Amino acid sequence: MTALLHALPIQAYLEALHQRLSDIRDGEVASYIPELSRADPNWFAIALVTVDGHVYQVGDSHQEFTIQSISKAITYGLALEDRGVEAVLAKVGVEPSGEAFNSISLEKDTGRPFNPMINAGAIATTGLIEGKSWPDKLARILQRFEKFVGHPVTVDEEVYCSERDTGHRNRAIAHLLRNANIIEEFPEEVVDLYFRQCSIRVTARDLALMGATLANNGVNPITSVCAQQSQYVDKMLSVMTTCGMYDYSGNWVYSVGMPAKSGVGGGIMAVLPGQFGLGVFSPLLDRKGNSFRGVRVCEELSRDIGVHLLKVVRATSASVVRVHYDGACIHSRRQRLSGDREALARGGHRIQVYELQGELMFASTDSLIRSIASQWDDTDFLILDFHRVVDIAAASIHLFTDLLARFAASGKHLLLTGTEDKYAFRRAIARGARTCGLERVFEFEDTDRALEFCEDQLLGREPPSSAPEPDDVLRDQYLCQDLSPAEMARLQQVTRRLSFQPGEHIFQSGDAATSLFFVLRGHVDLVVRTGQRQERRLVTVCAGMSFGEFALATGQGRSTAARAVAAVECMELAFADIDADLKPKLMGNLARELARRLSAEAKQLQILG
Ligand code: GLN
Repeated sequence: MTALLHALPIQAYLEALHQRLSDIRDGEVASYIPELSRADPNWFAIALVTVDGHVYQVGDSHQEFTIQSISKAITYGLALEDRGVEAVLAKVGVEPSGEAFNSISLEKDTGRPFNPMINAGAIATTGLIEGKSWPDKLARILQRFEKFVGHPVTVDEEVYCSERDTGHRNRAIAHLLRNANIIEEFPEEVVDLYFRQCSIRVTARDLALMGATLANNGVNPITSVCAQQSQYVDKMLSVMTTCGMYDYSGNWVYSVGMPAKSGVGGGIMAVLPGQFGLGVFSPLLDRKGNSFRGVRVCEELSRDIGVHLLKVVRATSASVVRVHYDGACIHSRRQRLSGDREALARGGHRIQVYELQGELMFASTDSLIRSIASQWDDTDFLILDFHRVVDIAAASIHLFTDLLARFAASGKHLLLTGTEDKYAFRRAIARGARTCGLERVFEFEDTDRALEFCEDQLLGREPPSSAPEPDDVLRDQYLCQDLSPAEMARLQQVTRRLSFQPGEHIFQSGDAATSLFFVLRGHVDLVVRTGQRQERRLVTVCAGMSFGEFALATGQGRSTAARAVAAVECMELAFADIDADLKPKLMGNLARELARRLSAEAKQLQILG
């Protein structure tokens, strides 16, 4: 297992990438915060954490360094939770400044910093963090980081003191912010908290996990702890995308295409929403203050594995319709007498069935709904089968609830199958049904049952059927076609009448087969086991049909179980009581019926693919 994990393609890829880029010596270690200049320029680590919590890491992935500006993204998320979007926007904008991270980019009239990813905006953001006291605010910030990285975090006191003693520019910015009332507290306290937040120790692995937590909509994929309220994750990723790499942000989106944040400690955290987080650490910085190798890692990785956010990786209008048919060509497994079969061949097209597959996104759902709309006048029943659907986007859910309302308003029926594990969808549909006054949404375990329901409605039949019992009950049986009156009379004599309660087994799979049954009243399900507790119905037979007759030809035991659906009346005919000259006639009828069913089955297979 371990050997296999080491050989995983992504691990091997990251190792090769690390090796390829480790010779780069360009850039310089940050020195404007004196303590940072002590970093070893050779340090180099890459880590990638997937949204299912797998960690890939190469190089010095356990080497600690200070998070610096990467902290800005996380504190921004905390401020959004503490104050809400409006209040935060009132103090800090979301416009890229196109200027260096330490520029004094403040709006002319309001004094509002351009965005929270440059120092001015980040200091203002830190000023928005709630807390009873300064130590309390720091504790809340540290707690937030702990949830992201999954372990306690500490402040690097040396780096903090070093920045505190030299960070006059940031201190000046804080005073300007106070002057414009962007900061409402004592600016020295705010900037001190900001310096501490920048000095939190992390590793490349921590950064990757933080990124993966954002990629996973705020839930840490390893600890399952909710680190960030999901409603603000897209806001954090937005400012990371447009402003996260300072005045390199435009180039970054162009060549890497992932929301990211870098820090002068040499770290970069990048996020591929829904997929993974990436953490890179190498303290040699380019002129813009971004890790030199870090930028290269992200650019090459984005190019090599094609993860640019704006790359069109799939056309979401690609067919989500696995197969589309109507009730005239495909029937439920309920066997019907010839009259009903003809009626369904004529009117079955009023039942439309769509078996869906894959991801239902906005465009694919829209295309599906246009197809449904094009047959609107001819449709009375619409069955949507979601068994093979893996995800339904929020936009698609809206389209479906709208469709439900239209069906309800025009007295048509919308039936859903396979929605058991699609919770958000079911909730929205239930809510939609209440809004449009529907008593119930028709939900069925499978499309076969939904189809049967529609057929019954179309045939004007209440399931189960309560057709009156004819006197000569055997006359319409296919097995009895072309029998002479004398032969019929003889059969009547030797059959024996039986009744079964609903749910009662008539025979079990594997039982010895010594008789066949003619159904007079009620329905019988013939089912096979498909798992410990699962079964599938092969057919349902009703009054006028027989079951158990295959054994007449095979001479073997029962291949299915037979169970009464409703109260069943039937006539049992023991094989031993069939006269020798009658048997060939019955066998002929059986062969004809089997051939009919087989060719009907072949036609359906052609449609279902
Ligand atoms: N603490 C650093 C500063 O304010 C963070 C800057 C950065 O990482 N770009 O200067």
